Amino acid sequence: MTLEKKDPVEVFNAGNKGRGLRTTKALVAGDVVFTEASYAAVVFDSMSMDVCHNCFRRQANPHRCAQCKFAHYCDRTCQRAAWDEHKRECAAIRTAGRAPKESVRLVARAMWRMQKHGAKAVDSQLTTLDFLQDHVADMAADDLKELEDDVQRFQEYWPKSRRSLSKEYISHLFGVIKVNGFALSDQRGLQAVGVGIFPNLCLVNHDCWPNCTVILNHGNQSALDPTLHSQRSRIELRALGPIEEGEELSVSYVDFLNVAKDRQKALKKQYYFECMCEHCSKGLKDDLMMATKDTGDKKAAAEQAKEVTELSLKTFEKVEVARLTGDFETVVKLCRECLQKQEALLADTHLHQLRLLCKASEVLSYLRNFKEAAECANRMVAGYAKLYHPNNAQLGMAIMRAGVTNWHAGNIEQGHNMICQAYGILLVTHGPHHPITHDLEMMRTQTEMELRMFRQNEKVYQCVREAALLGQPLSEPVKEQVKELAMAAK
Ligand SMILES: [Zn+2]
Ligand SMILES: [Zn+2]
Ligand SMILES: [Zn+2]
Repeated sequence: MTLEKKDPVEVFNAGNKGRGLRTTKALVAGDVVFTEASYAAVVFDSMSMDVCHNCFRRQANPHRCAQCKFAHYCDRTCQRAAWDEHKRECAAIRTAGRAPKESVRLVARAMWRMQKHGAKAVDSQLTTLDFLQDHVADMAADDLKELEDDVQRFQEYWPKSRRSLSKEYISHLFGVIKVNGFALSDQRGLQAVGVGIFPNLCLVNHDCWPNCTVILNHGNQSALDPTLHSQRSRIELRALGPIEEGEELSVSYVDFLNVAKDRQKALKKQYYFECMCEHCSKGLKDDLMMATKDTGDKKAAAEQAKEVTELSLKTFEKVEVARLTGDFETVVKLCRECLQKQEALLADTHLHQLRLLCKASEVLSYLRNFKEAAECANRMVAGYAKLYHPNNAQLGMAIMRAGVTNWHAGNIEQGHNMICQAYGILLVTHGPHHPITHDLEMMRTQTEMELRMFRQNEKVYQCVREAALLGQPLSEPVKEQVKELAMAAK
């Protein structure tokens, strides 16, 4: 591992946040600050049969480990690559008769790795699991009860032939993965499929308005060479904007779209710290997230805002129920009624309104009512843009979905612009090699071509679009016209 080049980061004392990580050189938006392979990682229990236990890609027909019948792989290449890590786990699962839950599997994998490769497995690793915070002392009674249960399960699973471990040490490891475990997503980046521990990433402190973002990179999966599939998944820490030399690096552990006190509450509950970041301590953007429309009469406005808030909360509940039963027509009806009231009284950045617009555009798209879905998506994205950091990954994904909705609705100009905008954001947050960025690049080319056609002959464009949406072939005269347009474009 001596070939590994040194990452431009160093550990430093970040005051009451404990240790932190800072950069040793100036960075610009989209720079990869460092990449890191997991120290240990496992597939979620619920995904164990659908996701490769080596590369975390979703697989339709995975290859099963014949011995434990628990681990699944893309193919023999992935299985072989994973064997060194799976060997002891495989034997333990066979002895136990079944696989224990994911947290127990993860702690065991981390222990096996430690015993084999040492607490510091690679040169670039800046800390070890021993030195990471476990917050066991801060845990509430029910968390402690669960922890004790986990330790018990671990001791039943851990091979009797191996060095036994103290209860305190096992508790420490469970605490570490609870507060530091990083969710691994599938190759599209759309669904969480597992959890891993990345020691250097653990050193990056939280900020609700961070200067970096983390993305999981599955390597080059379009590569035909299957040996590239067997590489360990790595996270990339990417800069969201210019960062000066010596500046602390930060990521956000929670979505920004909550008012400061709600974000603080969530962080306290899951990560056991009081967020004192600038956005929390000054309540920055809180006013926008709760803003009402200015009607002149303050008292009446407050009264009406209270009313519409109650209606919104009730509507969210009803929408959820209707969605679960598949009653999408009712979802649309509920959304329309509530949105009408919200639009009159709430500002376009109010969280209640944005949440409902998000639900409405999703369901309307599903029902193929693309025109109305696009209207909702456009209002939602306009609100998001006033709240999120301009290079926020959630914002980029929302603009991408809104762009596709507009495209489907025949708003080709708007659709193309949004897809270009989303592409710009994802180049920073996901990088040029991520599959979603590739998708966007393809959509950008396609919409650009369609936009050209639209400008040349709108009627032909509409015929082509409708045929595509209905999955029908083009009529002969339209086909001829498309050919002519294509010739003219050359
Ligand atoms: Zn096995
Ligand atoms: Zn695989
Ligand atoms: Zn904060």
